[in-house]
Amino acid sequence: MQRLAPALFLLLSGCAPFSVGPLLPLPTPVREGQESAVWIVWHTYGREDLPPTVRWVEGASLNCTAETGRPGWQTPVGCREGFTWTAGNVSVAWRPDDFFATTALAHEMMHASLIRRFGLLGGDPDHRRPEWLPGGLKDQAVGRLIEAGL
Ligand SMILES: [Zn+2]
Repeated sequence: MQRLAPALFLLLSGCAPFSVGPLLPLPTPVREGQESAVWIVWHTYGREDLPPTVRWVEGASLNCTAETGRPGWQTPVGCREGFTWTAGNVSVAWRPDDFFATTALAHEMMHASLIRRFGLLGGDPDHRRPEWLPGGLKDQAVGRLIEAGL
């Protein structure tokens, strides 16, 4: 743990947010309705602990087409409209026509939730768990966002 401290200091200092942005997502300003949207999703996943912070990726940063056919950004695993690699942060694309329900917020928060349950290697990047199935927990969270007008 002590050996990690200097490395973390380097990551967190100076111009690090620019150079390691994709790897160390920093939260962005909170959108109107975001707190409600985040808690609706998080509660749907059965969680009461502090939800992950959200980094919205938008504007000129959305410069490629994700496999969903919608605008995304380049992540370490290709063009995506959402990206999560820790339990504490999710990165999600926000396009001008988006609502919370139309973003990858619920999807990425599911990865974060699974990482909290099963550890860093348990985030299920291949979406094999039942939570991802049609009508599963992730879809239920999106449905609740729609019901809430979010
Ligand atoms: Zn995913």
